[in-house]
Amino acid sequence: LTDKLSRLVKHISGQARITESNVADMLREVRMALLEADVALPVVRDFIARVKEKALGQEVIGSLQPGQALVAIVNQELAATMGEGVSDLNLAAQPPAVILMAGLQGAGKTTTTAKLARWLINQRKKKVLTVSGDVYRPAAIEQLKTVTAQAGAEWFPSTPDQKPADIARAALDYARKHYFDVLLVDTAGRLAIDEALMAEIKDLHSVLNPVETLFVVDAMQGQDAINTAKAFSDALPLTGIVLTKLDGDSRGGAALSVRQITGAPIKFAGTSEKLDGLELFDANRHAGRVLGMGDILALVEQVTAGVDMAAAQKLAEKVKRGDAFDLNDFLAQIQQMRSMGGLSNIMDKLPSQMAAKAGQVDMDKAEKDIGRKQGIIHSMTPLERRKPDLIKATRKRRIAAGAGVQVQDVNRLLKEFEQMQTMMKKMSGGGMMKMMKKLGG
Ligand code: GDP
Ligand code: MG
Repeated sequence: LTDKLSRLVKHISGQARITESNVADMLREVRMALLEADVALPVVRDFIARVKEKALGQEVIGSLQPGQALVAIVNQELAATMGEGVSDLNLAAQPPAVILMAGLQGAGKTTTTAKLARWLINQRKKKVLTVSGDVYRPAAIEQLKTVTAQAGAEWFPSTPDQKPADIARAALDYARKHYFDVLLVDTAGRLAIDEALMAEIKDLHSVLNPVETLFVVDAMQGQDAINTAKAFSDALPLTGIVLTKLDGDSRGGAALSVRQITGAPIKFAGTSEKLDGLELFDANRHAGRVLGMGDILALVEQVTAGVDMAAAQKLAEKVKRGDAFDLNDFLAQIQQMRSMGGLSNIMDKLPSQMAAKAGQVDMDKAEKDIGRKQGIIHSMTPLERRKPDLIKATRKRRIAAGAGVQVQDVNRLLKEFEQMQTMMKKMSGGGMMKMMKKLGG
């Protein structure tokens, strides 16, 4: 098998022996996963510290299944950091409820404005007006006009020669007179944090007195999201976050950073360029993505549960005592491998890049191979399993026939067994799980 897979099996196998250093190992994995997801470093540090404190507080170390307990804590804490559950839009205001969109250029403000208009019309049966305060790019006003029409909302005209605050007043006035429920205000893009533009949006905020001030942020922004979020949150009382472009391959670590820095709940997730690509953000669901290891936590959990701790312990003691490692033990190892749900199940849970690499391995074949080994040992008598030395040509032919394989297959298994036996002799009690890694190969 590939390096990646054996590394994973090794990683998992570590969970069978749970020690304080294993918990530390797991936290290191989580830390790496978060950094790979572009969660800002200070946020990662805080997070790991919180998880560690909780883990120790719950006396995870020394409990029977610390791996599982830790998995639960990591998941919980991750979801909690990004906001528990789902947080809806606040429209509790004297109509029109004003929603102000803020964020860097290209973050997806204009697109999200139209998506929100559509969502409010369809899901909340609201009468929606949009207006653009982006007077620097005439194309931006046109863009909002087009997407607003697509969303089925009304668009309030503005022109590049107007002041954004004036546009806002006019739109607000129009919305009141025509009984709109919601006024969505798109704003100018900022390529970076720019003092003049920040002053402008603050001004807009005071004119509009919005019930929602949404910070729109590109999920692919990565580490830099933390600075942008800080600047916007210092300038404006943000009430919510929209995380766009979650359909890309980013792991969305920005969610954690932005949420932690602004303290505002993540309300929506943008999931496509199209107008229906907007969902209420679900922190629990997003937690798994940020860890970005497929369902690696679920996997660890499953494996911790699947490994027969008692059997592992027994074998470890046996080896310590210097007892012979026989084919029964070998079989037990193969069965343990299977009780993890089989190789392809493990593969399914791998992060996609890893899986692609490991995909060069023919899983079906590897899976069948394990089955064949099991079959061969099953065809042996108890005495043969205890004393493999007895297995000479005649017995080999009988075993092969019984298992429906070739004599070479029996030879190969015996050879593998011998290698394993040698390894076991060299190893102290703790190394039994390394053997599983060997089994896979
Ligand atoms: P603005 O400068 O903040 O107004 O950003 P725009 O709304 O003009 O969006 C910039 C680009 O991002 C456009 O090409 C959008 O189609 C695209 N975009 C916005 N939101 C999403 C999203 O959720 N998914 C994808 N794939 N593209 C998005
Ligand atoms: Mg725009």
